[in-house]
Amino acid sequence: KTKRFANKKILITGASQGIGEDAALHFAREGAQVAINARKAEKLRPLLDRLPKPVSGEHLIVAGDMAVEEDVDRVVRETIEGFGGLDVLICNAGMQIECPSEDISLKDFNAVMAVNVTGVVLCARAALKYWRANDQKGNILVNSSVHQQVPKPHYLGYSASKGAVGNIVRTLALEYARYGIRVNAVAPGAIVTPINDAWTKDPEKYEATAKHIPMRRPGECREISDAMAFLASEESSYITGQTLFVDGGLTLYADFEQNWS
Ligand code: NAD
Repeated sequence: KTKRFANKKILITGASQGIGEDAALHFAREGAQVAINARKAEKLRPLLDRLPKPVSGEHLIVAGDMAVEEDVDRVVRETIEGFGGLDVLICNAGMQIECPSEDISLKDFNAVMAVNVTGVVLCARAALKYWRANDQKGNILVNSSVHQQVPKPHYLGYSASKGAVGNIVRTLALEYARYGIRVNAVAPGAIVTPINDAWTKDPEKYEATAKHIPMRRPGECREISDAMAFLASEESSYITGQTLFVDGGLTLYADFEQNWS
């Protein structure tokens, strides 16, 4: 593998499992120093041991809750102090809670918004403050979802949060483009990770889900990490404010696959 990210310093939130874990391995294989975050440090130790050594320096564990302001500020600070800088911030931590919308509790709704929206804003704020104070370029990547665009009944908080992410990315991209700070999102479709255990571990539900995807299969974490790596690299140097859908065609109105006329 080419060391596209040699000497790059990358913070990845929500890296203890799923897409974040795969992204950490992916960026480390390409030479980066990665700071891996989750709420508990012990959840990250096995991953730290599996990360290929960076081209220079060491990787870091930066534990903290991305829905808590002091934790976010500390995590970003520990990353910058530990690495002596920050090149790419990847806001990946996210969660969802299922509930019919008429029964949704404010506590659950707020919990989803706190991680998926407020967490992204807080992380971005801390990184932007550092880059601006030091007159440096930077790159922010947010893990959104096809539910930025496709409604998800029973997941009102999740749909609302990912819709907000699309606008946060566009707003920040416009505000900071002049400083060489790019802000983009990836929007995964149905990816095999623990967040989707409910259907990936049940053969019938798996089949039913796969049938609704134009490419007839869920995606793999690797396919999201590849898109993240593109947006984090110089290969996308003129791209900002965009959401790259990585979804096997899920957002293409699959019902129109057949000719309806
Ligand atoms: P996952 O549940 O497997 O992993 C989520 C990660 O976020 C975990 O490491 C968890 O510890 C961490 N996390 C959650 N709350 C946190 C908090 N408050 N502070 C710090 N870390 C926290 O999920 P995943 O599928 O890997 O999802 C990662 C991102 O991708 C999420 O933003 C999710 O919305 C998005 N996404 C996933 C899919 C999919 O099909 N898997 C599809 C679209 C979008």
